[in-house]
Amino acid sequence: MLGLMQDWPLLIHKIIDHAALYYSEREVVTRSPEGPIEHTNYGEIAVRAHKVAAALDKRGIKLGDRIGTLAWNTSRHVESWYGIAGIGAVYHTLNPRLFPEQIAWIVNHAEDRALFFDITFAELVAKLAPHLKTVEFYVALTDRAHLPKADIPNLIAYEDFIADMPGDFAWKEFDEHTACGLCYTSGTTGDPKGVLYSHRSNTLHAMMVCSGDALGLSGRDTMLPVVPMFHANSWGIAFAAPMVGAKLVLPGPRLDGASLCELFSGEQVTMTAAVPTVWLSALHYLEETGKTLPYMKRVMVGGAACPRSMIEAFEGKYGVEVIHGWGMTEMSPMGTLCTLKAKHLDLPPEKKLDYKAKQGRPLFGVEMKIVDAENRELPRDGRTMGKLKVRGPAVAKSYFKGDGAGAFDAEGWFDTGDVATLDADGYMTITDRAKDVIKSGGEWISSIDIENLAVGHPAVAEAAVIGVRHPKWDERPLLIVVLKPGQTISKKDMLDHLAGKIATWWMPDEVVFVDAIPHSATGKIQKTALRERFAELHLPGAAG
Ligand code: ADP
Repeated sequence: MLGLMQDWPLLIHKIIDHAALYYSEREVVTRSPEGPIEHTNYGEIAVRAHKVAAALDKRGIKLGDRIGTLAWNTSRHVESWYGIAGIGAVYHTLNPRLFPEQIAWIVNHAEDRALFFDITFAELVAKLAPHLKTVEFYVALTDRAHLPKADIPNLIAYEDFIADMPGDFAWKEFDEHTACGLCYTSGTTGDPKGVLYSHRSNTLHAMMVCSGDALGLSGRDTMLPVVPMFHANSWGIAFAAPMVGAKLVLPGPRLDGASLCELFSGEQVTMTAAVPTVWLSALHYLEETGKTLPYMKRVMVGGAACPRSMIEAFEGKYGVEVIHGWGMTEMSPMGTLCTLKAKHLDLPPEKKLDYKAKQGRPLFGVEMKIVDAENRELPRDGRTMGKLKVRGPAVAKSYFKGDGAGAFDAEGWFDTGDVATLDADGYMTITDRAKDVIKSGGEWISSIDIENLAVGHPAVAEAAVIGVRHPKWDERPLLIVVLKPGQTISKKDMLDHLAGKIATWWMPDEVVFVDAIPHSATGKIQKTALRERFAELHLPGAAG
């Protein structure tokens, strides 16, 4: 027998309509690429999203067509997402930090019919345009006065594009499984692969993100997503914030500590989200200037492991709760978020911190297991490391155009490529990317554990651990360290800091100090580059 409830399709443009009706005056603030800080609200954003939809419809953009966006977090970018999706087309976010050849490859693979871009990227777009085979017209996300002079064909300013369009243009009708967003993984191995979100998956994911033990986002919050909209859907925040009527503060192109802290105070931001490298520089800025975070309540740290010392700094010095999270582009992207259970509340601070440093528990809607090399499920004992597999309604079931099929098994599990432990309470700890795990004498060493401990040394700004070839043990760990400005420590100081905190056979065989560690387009340490650089390094004590 079927239930007798209404078939109300989960469509993302219903989120902006809901916000316009119930949170019309709630502010959306943008540090614009043109310079000034601009204020609008959900009511205006919804009207302008309808205009975008009308303008695209007039140009013949149809159900399933892809529209590229090369843009920062701004209100125009948010409007564009809703307008594009509202006619059943697909917003396709492009990461400007990729090499131009990679961006061109991705646009051509996705067959984008139009490209919306911020004026910051005008030169880049002019360079790309001759290579973009399917793009018919370009929309600069600005007004006529700021229209770039660059040589870009069929170029129009966004404000002209939407100017005479009806603000009440009717959304198109289609099924909730219709595609609405496309984002390519950064492709550290092989070509980038497209993850194609549906209206249903994005809407469910936004509800998951808002829930209590996730971000617990509410209408009283002011949310500043530092995480870019081109990095895995800005972790769902561009949908979650209007869903609950949270004030949205969008940092545009300026993501340095000083610019962010100006917005945190000026706009009274209560919650924010970014990768650890952003917080490293923001915390450094706070330390140097003696400034504080008077309004901030919670900060979400994810995309790479959040060091314990970072949680201590936020919570101890600034009174800001850290929510550590893990996810992937393929998961819309949030998989786990770390909050304490009731039974942990009376634990001593150090023990609480042990939990908070983990990647956290799965949100409802994320199933998770760890398996061995033969795909047999491993125990949830908090110790056994295995390949992490996931499934759920906001997890990809294949990549765009069928690429990378090997990552999905017959039961619908997606292989994350991460190695993790799970405990009986559901807490997951990432020990490594499978390709970064250090295999020493047949056992695995977690590079992430050692990195997190190393950055806990007060003189250390950043650390990376990689496996280096060893004649006896296959691989041994090398610790690569960037010191804070003006600091000097020895190899012995560094190893003394680790001693007693990790098993003796995990101790790095060598420590090297470098000026900088390379990062990927999504802010992660580029271990492939480090492995190449130190491939010939001769470890002390390693004969041959
Ligand atoms: P890409 O790096 O290709 O852009 P994602 O941004 O989707 O891909 O990154 C997903 C990967 O980032 C995960 O599989 C995991 O290896 C890593 N990651 C994300 N969050 C964390 C975290 N909190 N701790 C450790 N690793 C993380």
